[in-house]
Amino acid sequence: MALAPPDPALVEKLVIANRILYNQGVVDGFGHVSVRHNQSPDHFLLSCNRAPGLVRRADILAYDLDGNLAEASDLRPYLERFIHGEIYRARPDVMAVVHSHSPSVIPFGVTGQRLRPIFHMSGFLGSGSSLFEIRDAGGATDLLIRNAGLGRALAASLGQHSCVLMRGHGSTVVAPSLERAVYRAVYAEENAKLQLGAAVLGPVEFLTPEEAELAMAATEGQVMRPWELWSESIGAVD
Ligand code: MN
Repeated sequence: MALAPPDPALVEKLVIANRILYNQGVVDGFGHVSVRHNQSPDHFLLSCNRAPGLVRRADILAYDLDGNLAEASDLRPYLERFIHGEIYRARPDVMAVVHSHSPSVIPFGVTGQRLRPIFHMSGFLGSGSSLFEIRDAGGATDLLIRNAGLGRALAASLGQHSCVLMRGHGSTVVAPSLERAVYRAVYAEENAKLQLGAAVLGPVEFLTPEEAELAMAATEGQVMRPWELWSESIGAVD
């Protein structure tokens, strides 16, 4: 049976998510955001191979969890679509995924340091980020998640965390909604900047896991506030 078309409102929201992530400096010419398909938990929506700041409705394609297009298209897919499919497969609770190379996070991945919640806005970091070492899964690579095997290894490294650092590459955040995934991607980058700054001053007092849990519930319960603000500066999308 053919896959039913996605909710047009969800497609528009995914376009807006792409534009927000670009405006907020999380993605540039690279990076991507996906959302689980509203008609099928075994499919997700992701743009074709285009810079997130330029993504339009017509670019949004449906993929199965193996990274195959749900229907034929001449549009070229992102090489790293396996990040999304394998995380959706491993984590039924995840409804949206952001993969980026946001710069402040990179030093943590290459030094084996966890990103930890430095303030209430990043309670989603919980006990800290996890780390993916691609050499363990693929030996010498170009660092990209080019196939399902690397995607599965990344999903395994993510575990039950909401953020996984990818050594020498970037990071991936997951969330139970698209708005929250965008929020987390913005604040993972913000947390990294603050954590680097604080470390210069001395030992850092991070949120405890309990504080992180409480803070996450409080801030992400209000996620529509920043989402509306960030959407406002984008205007109408085509
Ligand atoms: Mn990448």
